[in-house]
Amino acid sequence: MTVTLTSSPLTAADRCDRCSAAAKVRATLPSGGELLFCRHHANQHEDRLRELEAVIVMDAVQV
Ligand SMILES: [Zn+2]
Repeated sequence: MTVTLTSSPLTAADRCDRCSAAAKVRATLPSGGELLFCRHHANQHEDRLRELEAVIVMDAVQV
């Protein structure tokens, strides 16, 4: 099994999966799925993501 970790930075083209705001947080699930959230929704879903053992990466770029 090959595990590929991509660390490409989030861009302005990346949008929150819950709203259309710019994505600031990337959550990678153990299953390989990837979710993008704005800060608002990242906070809202953080507990659930941790339950799923998602790897949460905050984009360091401030807007
Ligand atoms: Zn959002």
